[in-house]
Amino acid sequence: MEIKAHAKLNLTLDVLGKRPDGYHDLRMVMQSIELADTLTLTRNDTGELRVGTNLHFLPNNERNLAAQAALRWWERENTVPCGLDINIEKHIPVCAGMGGGSSDAAAVLRALNQMEDRHLDLDILAEIGALVGSDVPYCVMGGTALAEGRGEVLTPLPPLPKCWVVLCKPEFSISTPALFAKIDSVRLRCRPDAKGAVAALEAGDLAGVARRMYNVFEDALPDRQRNRVADLKNTLIQCGALGASMSGTGPTAFGLFDSEDRAMEAREKLEDFGGEVFLTRTV
Ligand code: ATP
Repeated sequence: MEIKAHAKLNLTLDVLGKRPDGYHDLRMVMQSIELADTLTLTRNDTGELRVGTNLHFLPNNERNLAAQAALRWWERENTVPCGLDINIEKHIPVCAGMGGGSSDAAAVLRALNQMEDRHLDLDILAEIGALVGSDVPYCVMGGTALAEGRGEVLTPLPPLPKCWVVLCKPEFSISTPALFAKIDSVRLRCRPDAKGAVAALEAGDLAGVARRMYNVFEDALPDRQRNRVADLKNTLIQCGALGASMSGTGPTAFGLFDSEDRAMEAREKLEDFGGEVFLTRTV
């Protein structure tokens, strides 16, 4: 079976505080985009779970989030696997704040649900996914949603009006644990207006959503990286983006466009910055 694993963007991301269990309470408006990995799942009769990807530096064993999802699925189903090959063709940049690994895990859960003719509700798949990672439940659902708690408390939202997305993953990566550790001691300049963004979604107001996009993790980035993300956002706005922000713990910056021509111009400009640049659409 072949299945797509779509990347996600955080239209807004707010950290509400640290919890006694060490996790942070978050509030995020999430959006799926067409940029996706392609997974192929094939039954084998070796009794083994084997994972392969086109990127040599990704784990090809049980540390791969796609493999962890399959193991959690079998645990939940109380079955012994006959054997499975998972092949992942990666297109989503890695360590980019775009949920690539989480989306691969969610795709495996959806695929196994079909291949094994189980038809479990998405809620149950999301519950299994939460054992793999906090972003997996959202990736199971996809679309436009409000994610709270660690990210696993989901409320579906009216879909973001279709638009073009230009994004750039600079060549450096960000350590997610380090950024979470830092966020508690940083004085936040600004907080996203998630309520306003939800109201704009309800009104079908793309520009209203785009105007309210903001991610508090930008304030926790080291100076050089923060400046780089700011440069990318400014370029996107100068090229006509309705709004621009950073996704997840970064460093990917993205902008939303209601014109394909302007989006194409932005893609060209961002290519001068280096890194990985994509023009894609919302799902
Ligand atoms: P998020 O937005 O959820 O924080 P991210 O974009 O920052 O995710 P990912 O690309 O999902 O980060 O993966 C980060 C880590 O997960 C890497 O260290 C990578 O080695 C590991 N990993 C395990 N499985 C996968 C997978 N299938 N795809 C990508 N990374 C994977």
